[in-house]
Amino acid sequence: MSRSAHPAGPRHADVLPEGHPSAPPADLNHLDRKVWASTVTRTPDGVVSVGGIEVTRLAEEFGTPAYLVDETDFRERARAWRTAFGPDADVFYAGKAFLSRAVVRWLHDEGLNLDVCSGGELTTALSAGMPADRIAFHGNNKSVDEIETAIRAGVGRIVLDSFQEIVRVAHIAQSLGRRQRVQIRITVGVEAHTHEFIATAHEDQKFGIPLAGGQAAEAVRRALQLDGLELIGIHSHIGSQIFDMSGFEVAAHRVVGLLRDIRDEHGVELPEIDLGGGLGIAYTSGDDPREPHEIAKALNEIVSRECEGAKLRTPRISVEPGRAIVGPTAFTLYEVGTIKLLDGLRTYVSVDGGMSDNIRTALYDAEYSVALVSRTSEAAPMLVRVVGKHCESGDIVVKDAFLPADLAPGDLIAVPATGAYCRSMASNYNHALRPPVVAVREGEARVIVRRETEEDLLRLDVG
Ligand SMILES: *Cc1c(COP(=O)(O)O)cnc(C)c1O
Repeated sequence: MSRSAHPAGPRHADVLPEGHPSAPPADLNHLDRKVWASTVTRTPDGVVSVGGIEVTRLAEEFGTPAYLVDETDFRERARAWRTAFGPDADVFYAGKAFLSRAVVRWLHDEGLNLDVCSGGELTTALSAGMPADRIAFHGNNKSVDEIETAIRAGVGRIVLDSFQEIVRVAHIAQSLGRRQRVQIRITVGVEAHTHEFIATAHEDQKFGIPLAGGQAAEAVRRALQLDGLELIGIHSHIGSQIFDMSGFEVAAHRVVGLLRDIRDEHGVELPEIDLGGGLGIAYTSGDDPREPHEIAKALNEIVSRECEGAKLRTPRISVEPGRAIVGPTAFTLYEVGTIKLLDGLRTYVSVDGGMSDNIRTALYDAEYSVALVSRTSEAAPMLVRVVGKHCESGDIVVKDAFLPADLAPGDLIAVPATGAYCRSMASNYNHALRPPVVAVREGEARVIVRRETEEDLLRLDVG
């Protein structure tokens, strides 16, 4: 990567488009601790570093775009969740947020369990040495092959998602001479996103079995009758990027209500409940996520209170954070290319990646922030839109952000909080080569997922 080859173009900072989100920050060089991984800092010479290594060095060695993961931060977050929930609960990291073999080993070291939702994720987990009994297998349409592989491997639980799957898993387990531990995923009529939750009367979604209309109770009835299954609990996952605990409160109330009904009808107290994942992180300075210990305290209190009311023994709780563990630990490093000033409209800053490495902005209207990281600048703030290099107008990485007005081609900019659902959702659109994931820790950087190459692309193209 040559970062000095481009002649700088003209720019002005005087035009602010209608409806821009907020005033510029007081100091563009300041890194908000909330959105950056814990070891990220600006060195005295103005370059940002992570794990003790300057991003300019990382760009030279690994190229851009690249995902840089702060391994120390990842391990600390994983440990914080583990510690917060203690020995009487289980923390399952949701592998779909980002999974690689190194991540599996970090999770294993830190005492976490792992959720997978495809044969590919299961293979990755097993190949990196995660014990099968610490793996939970999810999904609304697991194939017969996937189910068979999971049962043969001895996964700790399969989360059943439909009436058909109850029979399917029971049948496969029985034909393998196994009794598979399972949970039933129910939908409790709560949908949570960010700062609010919506209680819906019916359950119009593809996941889970509705509590409404007695369907979940019927699923339990069927599962309890099948020899191939050992029903260990009820599962509920209410949404993602949630800050407000009241959605979990309603969910726990309803899940425990079902446990009570099961006891009354069948005389069994199921030993476990899983409240899913979905805890929010700070993508921008405006977000205020809770700490794992606060979340654990709130969930434990809610479940204990509900169980007391229902005169049930408190079941073992499990949770499934994905984003909340990996999201804040990584950032994406890009090189600035073309800067286009549309007078009176907007300034577009193009980077060498885009929707192929971060689809969340296009897909969910996700908000991100961005910072100049290869140097400091005292120039005035300039409102920009950071876009990618793909053939799509919706190829936006950061919709509205302030960068210094002297930004120039060849500068390095970074988008924080891209650890979750960026590499894992990355595509080859326009035959882009998916960026590497580089783990940085205590002055050492190592590639944990390498950059795709043109040979990789051509290897699949066998026509
Ligand atoms: C996606 C998902 C999670 C993780 O969600 P995050 O928002 O990353 O915490 C956990 N459990 C289930 C069942 C999921 O589908």
